[in-house]
Amino acid sequence: MSQIAPIPSVTTTGEPLAGAPARKQNLLDLDRAGLERFFEETLGEKRYRAHQVMKWIHHRYVTDFDGMTDLGKPLRAKLQQHAEVVVPNVVFDKPSADGTHKWLLSMGADGKNAIETVYIPDKTRGTLCVSSQVGCALNCQFCSTATQGFNRNLSTAEIIGQVWVAARHLGNVPAQIRRLTNVVMMGMGEPLANFDNVVRAMSIMRDDLGYGLASKRVTLSTAGMVPMIDRLSTESDVSLAVSLHAAQDELRSQLVPLNKKYPVEQLMAACARYLKASPKRDSITFEYTLMKGVNDQPEHARSLARLMRQFGNQMQSREAGKVNLIPFNPFPGTRYERSDEAQIRAFQKILLDAQVLTMVRRTRGDDIDAACGQLKGQVMDRTRRQAEFNRQLREQGLGDAAA
Ligand code: SF4
Repeated sequence: MSQIAPIPSVTTTGEPLAGAPARKQNLLDLDRAGLERFFEETLGEKRYRAHQVMKWIHHRYVTDFDGMTDLGKPLRAKLQQHAEVVVPNVVFDKPSADGTHKWLLSMGADGKNAIETVYIPDKTRGTLCVSSQVGCALNCQFCSTATQGFNRNLSTAEIIGQVWVAARHLGNVPAQIRRLTNVVMMGMGEPLANFDNVVRAMSIMRDDLGYGLASKRVTLSTAGMVPMIDRLSTESDVSLAVSLHAAQDELRSQLVPLNKKYPVEQLMAACARYLKASPKRDSITFEYTLMKGVNDQPEHARSLARLMRQFGNQMQSREAGKVNLIPFNPFPGTRYERSDEAQIRAFQKILLDAQVLTMVRRTRGDDIDAACGQLKGQVMDRTRRQAEFNRQLREQGLGDAAA
């Protein structure tokens, strides 16, 4: 994990040393280890103070140091001087009739970038879909985010800030009122291309002083950045999902251009190494978006079943590879269509008959464009999103953001 940029020390009484910086440390950028360092090395305070502050931020959603009432006045003054807690600004939030909830959040001091975060409640769990980048450089052919290109990586604060906003809205209290039970890094962007910030944010998600989620309840979804999957296996033990979409190289390279660099065989080998590296991990989910006439034919299902069987044999577990079938959600300008329901069921049956654990992901939040793929779809379409964003800014009297 990368080191946090050091901020020159202050005296233990809170007096700034000569040359102290004007820039304040956003505490949302720090995981437990980083916060402990900040308290010890920068503020000259004990580690447990960092733990108190973490709880105020992530359990009680307090961002004003004056509200952190179990901290002494001198420490609060020191914090005011050298730190801040900056959360993403909610441009709008939109509930769906089925309980799904979507937030449009502006990111960065200039507020010119916006990303979406979606909460999807179920009978037994509440899942938050979190973004890792503004835009994406990987250019998957069926993805709307790809059409807007890559803008920038999100900071740790901007990633964990999405969880903070949703958890606060939901009244989530870690270990007590668990409305947020799962996080999937499946929003905009390739999480492994923003490795340090994503790993640090996931560490806060899993920390008892953060959101207290078990590692298996935090899922990172990748298009297949093989070297970074290996690196992830040494730094985190979260669940892994792979955006596969085709089991054979020729088709996969068309749909996911990254496959030309890391073909299916290399990707599956990295998945095997990821599972073997930790006894806690027992399976990997393979996401497969079904597009009519493109990758939804019986021969495609048979190829996928073969690949999953090989993977299961290698891992000596039939359940090592699970398949999530995702009916494609069309967005304006796409040339792809959603597969027919009968085709989806026939595809699933071939896999189930081959004893591959296969789910069809239900579409939720259609009425707010929060269904899978639509998160990167209609509203994320650059023109429409920017228009909506500017409209909201104008309503708040803030004028237009540059496109
Ligand atoms: S599917 Fe994911 S990795 Fe591919 S372009 Fe879209 S956001 Fe990027």
